[in-house]
Amino acid sequence: MKILISEDDDVSRRMLESILVKWQYEVMITDNGIDALSILLSDNAPGIAILDWMMPQMTGVEVCKEIRKHGKEPYTYLILLTSKGRKEDLVYGIEAGADDYITKPFNMQELKVRLRAGTRIVELSEQLISARDAMQIAATHDSLTGIWNRAAIFDTFKKEFSRANREKKPISIILADLDFFKKINDRYGHPAGDEVLRETSKIMKELLRQYDTCGRYGGEEFLIVLPGCNSETASVIAQRLCHLIESHIINIPGHQLKVTCSMGVATLANFDDIDKIDLKDMNMLLKIADVALYQAKNDGRNCVRSLFL
Ligand SMILES: [Mg+2]
Repeated sequence: MKILISEDDDVSRRMLESILVKWQYEVMITDNGIDALSILLSDNAPGIAILDWMMPQMTGVEVCKEIRKHGKEPYTYLILLTSKGRKEDLVYGIEAGADDYITKPFNMQELKVRLRAGTRIVELSEQLISARDAMQIAATHDSLTGIWNRAAIFDTFKKEFSRANREKKPISIILADLDFFKKINDRYGHPAGDEVLRETSKIMKELLRQYDTCGRYGGEEFLIVLPGCNSETASVIAQRLCHLIESHIINIPGHQLKVTCSMGVATLANFDDIDKIDLKDMNMLLKIADVALYQAKNDGRNCVRSLFL
């Protein structure tokens, strides 16, 4: 656990530092509140801070207030260091956002148990954050391919669609569907089908620009959102994808597979008739992409067809 000691009194600071190092904490030190605040708000900041109450430029209590105002994550456990013994002062310190206090001169045993309590809180906070992040990923990502799931890609589409309308910039989408996917499952089994989905998703993710998004829209269907893309550019991207997918070899036990994909591109470039963005306009664009995809399937698959609204 990393601990920040912020104390302007040399003797007390050195004493704290040597004890904490002896107790195997990773120690950072400053002698003023301003530096303490900037360290605590930086990336990879210490989880615990021991802040002297009286310091030049910024007091320990002011540092506490600022840290809490930022609502920083993960939680920083703040211990105020004070020679004041008056209860009302301590109440003020705790109300400012401190978690605990230590009075000077230190009682070693007391300091030890207080740091242990702080460590527990910080670790708990870190665990909660990673559990929350994992839940967030599970709720928005497709577990098989790791790309966005249907709800999340639709959400992105919604945001980008309304941004396109706001900025009067074109937006394109690609609806991509693997050809004869059922045959792969029937012939080689579902694990092979899963591998095909994973590999195809990987190709899509690698080719797309950083502001494009792709998600698994259905079984073997993918939705790609291309903000700022006109019909021509979107078609070029779709064709490149088709080509990459068809030339990629997928290794499954005992076989080397090649698959192809059909793609329908739909573009909205003219916002003149749209006053307020509406779910029905988005659904219309999706429907058009679906029609284009159907045309691609009808025209022999492994190709791109484009339409625009
Ligand atoms: Mg002081």
